[in-house]
Amino acid sequence: MMKNFLFFGALMLASTISAQRTCGFDKKRQEYFAKNPQAAAKHVDLQNYLSNKNNATIQGVVTIPVVVHVLYRNATENVSDAQIASQITVLNQDYRKLNADFNTVVPDAFKPYASDMEVVFCMATKDPNGNPTTGVERKAVPSNFDYTNQYFTSAGLAAWDTTKYLNIWVGVPEGVLGFATGPDSAGQPEDGLVIGYYCFGTTGAVNNINNKGRTATHEIGHYFGLNHIWGEDDSLCGTPENSDGCNDTPATNNAYYGAPLFPSNQHTCTNTAIGAMFMNYMDYVDDGVMGMFSNDQKTIVRNSISGPRASLLNSNTCTTLSVSEAEKINAVNIFPNPTTQYISIAAPQMKINEMEIFNAEGRLVKRAFVKNETDKIDIKDFSAGVYYVRVYKDKQFVKSLKFIKK
Ligand SMILES: [Zn+2]
Repeated sequence: MMKNFLFFGALMLASTISAQRTCGFDKKRQEYFAKNPQAAAKHVDLQNYLSNKNNATIQGVVTIPVVVHVLYRNATENVSDAQIASQITVLNQDYRKLNADFNTVVPDAFKPYASDMEVVFCMATKDPNGNPTTGVERKAVPSNFDYTNQYFTSAGLAAWDTTKYLNIWVGVPEGVLGFATGPDSAGQPEDGLVIGYYCFGTTGAVNNINNKGRTATHEIGHYFGLNHIWGEDDSLCGTPENSDGCNDTPATNNAYYGAPLFPSNQHTCTNTAIGAMFMNYMDYVDDGVMGMFSNDQKTIVRNSISGPRASLLNSNTCTTLSVSEAEKINAVNIFPNPTTQYISIAAPQMKINEMEIFNAEGRLVKRAFVKNETDKIDIKDFSAGVYYVRVYKDKQFVKSLKFIKK
C-alpha cells in the first residue's frame, strides 16, 4: 500500500516537471479580479482598447528590460547564468520571427499571418537604485516555499519597479509550467511572470519536452495582453468570452496539446481547409511544435506597449540592441571567474576596449583599457568579494558582468 502511494507520489512529481503545457494565467487573473473588482470592471474596455488597430503609438523595434529573480530550494533549481541567457536568446528570436524552426513548424498556409512583433529583450544593466547589475538576483528559499503566492513577497524576492522592468521569477510554479499577470495588473507588486526552472531557456535544468524556452514566450504574450487562442472560456463557440480579440487566429473551443498533425479541425468552431492555428505560441502544444504570433496578436502587444505598459520603454535600464548585437553581447564574458590574480574579457564577436570595475558598494575601483582578448587586468590587490564590471566598445556601454575575487 505504502509502496503504491509512493509510486503515485513520484508520478505526480514527474508530471509537474515534465509535461504537456499547463498555464496559470486565467486562474491568476480570476484571483486578481476577485480581490480587485475595479480592475475587473475595466477589463472588457481594456481588451477592446488592446484589440483596436488604431491605438498603437510606438514604431519600430522596442526594447524591454528584464530582471530575473531565481528562487531555489536546491542546486538544480539555482539555474545558471547560461540557462538564463539561453532564454533571452529565445525571446529575441521568437519576438522577431527569427526562430530557426519557423519554416518547419509553421505550415505555408499560416505563414502570411505570422508576425515580427518587433520587440527585443535585454537583461537590466542598472538596478532600481541606478547601480550596475547583471539583471539576475538569487535567493535560497525553504522546501515548503509557496511559489504561487509568495514569489513577490519578502519571503521570496520583491519585484524591481514593475513599471520599469519585466520581472521574471524562476522557480516551481506549482502544477503549471508558468503563469503571468496581464496588463490588468500593470504596475502591481506581483506583476510579471513565474516560470518553472525546468522549462526556462534551452540548456541546464530544462526537461526534454519543454526545452525550447517557449513557456516564457507564451507567458510574455499574456503579460502583453494576449489571451489563449480559444479566448477566456475554453468550452464555447461564438461568444465574446470565446474570442481572443484576433480575427486572424481561427476560433477554437479548446487547447491543442502535444504535437498535432496539420491540418486539424478537432477544436475549431468552423471547419476549414487549414484548420486551427495550433502552432501559435498562445496555444498549448509542446515547445518544439509552436513557432508564430499572428498580425492581430501584434496589434494587441503593440497597444499594450503604447498604453498600460508604456513606462517600460522610458526606464533606460538597459542598452537598446538589435538581435545580432544581442547575440554578440551574449558572448561577452569574464574569465577566469572566480579569480585571484587577474581578469580578462572574452569577446569573440566584438571588440571591447574599455572596462570599469565597481565594488559591491557600487564604487568605481578601477578603469582599464583593453587592446587584446589576452590582456590581463591585474586585480590581485583587490579584497575578496563580488565585483561588477561595465565594459565598453568605442565609449559605448555594452554590458554589465560580475566576477568573484577569492
Ligand atoms: Zn497561457
